[in-house]
Amino acid sequence: AATIYYEADADLSHLKGKTIAILGYGSQGHAQAQNLRDSGCNVIIGQRPGSANYDLAKDHGFEPMSIADAVKAADVINILLPDEVQGPVYQEAIKDNLSPGNILMCSHGFNLHFGQIEPPQGVDTLLVAPKGPGHLVRSEFEKGGGVPSLIALGDGASEATKQIGLAYAKGIGGTRGGVIETTIAEETETDLFGEQVVLCGGVSELVKAGFQTLVDAGYQPEMAYFECMHELKLIVDLFYEGGLSYMRYSISNTAEYGDYSSGPRIVTDETRAEMKKILEEIQNGTFARNWILENRAGTPGFKATRRRERALQIEEVGRNLRRMMTWIDEKEV
Ligand code: NDP
Ligand code: MG
Ligand code: MG
Repeated sequence: AATIYYEADADLSHLKGKTIAILGYGSQGHAQAQNLRDSGCNVIIGQRPGSANYDLAKDHGFEPMSIADAVKAADVINILLPDEVQGPVYQEAIKDNLSPGNILMCSHGFNLHFGQIEPPQGVDTLLVAPKGPGHLVRSEFEKGGGVPSLIALGDGASEATKQIGLAYAKGIGGTRGGVIETTIAEETETDLFGEQVVLCGGVSELVKAGFQTLVDAGYQPEMAYFECMHELKLIVDLFYEGGLSYMRYSISNTAEYGDYSSGPRIVTDETRAEMKKILEEIQNGTFARNWILENRAGTPGFKATRRRERALQIEEVGRNLRRMMTWIDEKEV
């Protein structure tokens, strides 16, 4: 079983006298920065001007500065920028401003694991990753709770760095929920696998294929939308609260019988073999290389796919139906 750290295992005094730079004031940045400040830490913000996030940092009482200046002024530096921009920004504004003894942190290991960030001698690396979006990291903290988090030490990082990591996790509220020890490799590979195979890739394709099968068979798209997309939330909420067993306890016996008899015909040995292949491509760096190259080219294929996916019939049908459901806090992109 995993090693899990709680409040008593972490000591905020390890951050005493240290300046923490939070680079980026987005989802994670705004939450981690404010929680750390409320925990008594000295926090500065590296955030480019001219954006809503810059104004937000000012509204929250910070004096945002350039990323380069924040790195220069800090002892502990946490890169909370989108993963695909971290490599270039590291080369441009971070690398030459680090000093020996600094600790370079992140909340997702992609760039450390795949060699896009290779800190100089004397700079330890450390991951502290809340297992939830920034707004929850902030709102739970304000309520006196905290979102469970992960901690992982980079190659060769010292015991002192680990103590700083635990203190940081405590500062953002993580130890109130529990902090699971992992490695940069495990965090990165499982995160990518989960989003590709199950959470994002797997579920999206499953929904689209189910919807299309009904529509192709002559059923009304509105009906297909409700059955194959809308009701998914109900099921996921049951998973979230009580796992597979509670979902199956809550649905009808007919639905449960169909779950057992048809589910295994949808996720077949062929699907499982493909999952394994995807995992291998994550592990051997093929996925990361493709995504990095796509970014270097200005993301042409990525943007084209995004446009195509936004134009799907299920999106059009769903938009219209969601307008009928006034209780939904409807989002359009
Ligand atoms: P966001 O997209 O919410 O925030 C991005 C921040 O980076 C903004 O402040 C943005 O500023 C700035 N930024 C974007 N592009 C650039 C650039 N080219 N140069 C300088 N600054 C830039 O990121 P997240 O908080 O979602 O993600 C941060 C990290 O946290 C990632 O490693 C992610 O994997 C990890 N993480 C995220 C979770 C989540 O739920 N969101 C959960 C756990 C980990 P501007 O407004 O000017 O664009
Ligand atoms: Mg991810
Ligand atoms: Mg039904």
